[in-house]
Amino acid sequence: MKKKGWKELPEGGIIKNVPTSQELKTGSWRTQKPVWDPNKCTNCFLCWLYCPDSAIILREVNGEPKVSGINYDYCKGCGICAEVCPPKVKAIHMEKEEL
Ligand code: SF4
Ligand code: SF4
Repeated sequence: MKKKGWKELPEGGIIKNVPTSQELKTGSWRTQKPVWDPNKCTNCFLCWLYCPDSAIILREVNGEPKVSGINYDYCKGCGICAEVCPPKVKAIHMEKEEL
């Protein structure tokens, strides 16, 4: 029997309509919730840099990026943002999630 060439082989191993993490809202996993205080925030972006779920929201204000809040649709409440926020600033603290 003659072997098929690669052009005659059926397509395989193709995952169509791959779901992205944007469709997987992980906010319901939280037991604790980060609360951000805009009056204390110095916009050092450490929370944005370390957040594993890209849940720290940045907005452009006068051409400069600024932290503008937390996206609770995706925030899993890991607390990393509160940990990395500089101790002298402490613009994020964790609270118990109310369901
Ligand atoms: S608690 Fe975790 S997931 Fe939520 S914003 Fe902070 S670092 Fe991101
Ligand atoms: S780590 Fe703290 S001070 Fe820095 S941007 Fe985030 S909330 Fe603001």
